[in-house]
Amino acid sequence: MALLLKGGRVVDPAVGLDAVCDIVIRDGLIVEIGSDLTIPKGITVDCAGKVVVPGLVDAHTHLREPGREDEETILSGTRAAAHGGFVAVCAMPNTSPVCDEGAAVRALKQRPADHRFARVYPIGALTVGSKGESIAEIGDMLAEGAVAFSDDGRGVQNSGMMRRIMDYAKAFGTTVISHCEDEALAGRGVVNEGVVSTRLGLPGWPAAAEETQVARDIRLCELTGCRLHLAHLSTAGSVELVRQAKMRGVAVTCEVTPHHLFLDEDAISANYDTNLKMNPPLRTAADREALVAGLLDGTVDCIATDHAPHAAHEKALEFELAPFGTTGLETALPLVITNLVAPGFLSWSDVVRLMAHGPRKALGLPEATLAPGEVADITIIDPEASVEVTPEFFESKSGNSAFLGAKLTGKATGVLIQGYFSLEDGKVV
Ligand SMILES: [Zn+2]
Ligand SMILES: [Zn+2]
Repeated sequence: MALLLKGGRVVDPAVGLDAVCDIVIRDGLIVEIGSDLTIPKGITVDCAGKVVVPGLVDAHTHLREPGREDEETILSGTRAAAHGGFVAVCAMPNTSPVCDEGAAVRALKQRPADHRFARVYPIGALTVGSKGESIAEIGDMLAEGAVAFSDDGRGVQNSGMMRRIMDYAKAFGTTVISHCEDEALAGRGVVNEGVVSTRLGLPGWPAAAEETQVARDIRLCELTGCRLHLAHLSTAGSVELVRQAKMRGVAVTCEVTPHHLFLDEDAISANYDTNLKMNPPLRTAADREALVAGLLDGTVDCIATDHAPHAAHEKALEFELAPFGTTGLETALPLVITNLVAPGFLSWSDVVRLMAHGPRKALGLPEATLAPGEVADITIIDPEASVEVTPEFFESKSGNSAFLGAKLTGKATGVLIQGYFSLEDGKVV
């Protein structure tokens, strides 16, 4: 089957492309890019006014299956991904049971129908049960298709264990993704430690609890030569540590989330909304500005959602008892367009760098560019579309969004995976 994407603004810095042109797709591959192209038979999609980019990837998604299918499943999570403009998600292993062996990775990839809406790249656990006590079967999981390893949800507390993990991962040539949290320092903290935690009378989670592990893991990365990716950095100090490490040539990459970029702790003061309870917590306005500066100067490699669906009854608890996390797959791109592209902070090339190429490079995934011969994994964006973040907006099973009520401008209206639509005219198909 042939498909002609007609007259969109095609943006892909990897091949030096930012121009209005047409793309012809046949049998899942891009076959031609140019102007005034036609196809003898097939489907023509009018892309006038749209931005056409390499398919977006989320480096950090919680799918909750197996174990909490009431919160999300592979199917509902990948539908949410398509709705948000993503062609692929990297699935964190802290399910129940934890994905810490080859068979669990295999199970995640088993039902092809579940993978129709977005590709799923499994991330395996670093340690058995993510308990931090013994190293998981990294080799087996790699053989079954795991792309990287993480005990996300918890930081690895024992530095000697982290060193051994990195030595081991280095031998396999794979990436360690670090959730940076020193548990003794973070304690029972539920919000950023500072003026707001004091005023609200809630236990504080200090910036230092993140930054000490960021510093440690960068040092261990230098010691072992293992590739390191730092998840959801939230503080100015963390960004500065990564900036300095990159200047020394350390093989470290990092991500930030939309909620840390676009919300700060002051939002919590208004109403103790548990949808604003995150790990790591929302920080200060100055931290937020430092994260944005990191996006602009190349210190931050990607924007990742940390999509964390939760059941409504669990988030309806008191602030200290509610679980951490917000959903993110469906709001990430509209938030980035509204807050960073429209005001001129990021170009469309930057968006491609941070949401398409950056995550792939950081986790060693197959590259995707817009060039003849490449697989047609493509996202089509309408920068003018309006989005109202209501409970009905979501394809995710969970509605615990930190951005409920937001009115945004710009979203994906089309997603192609290997030449087939998973999102067409703004609808998951
Ligand atoms: Zn985490
Ligand atoms: Zn996470």
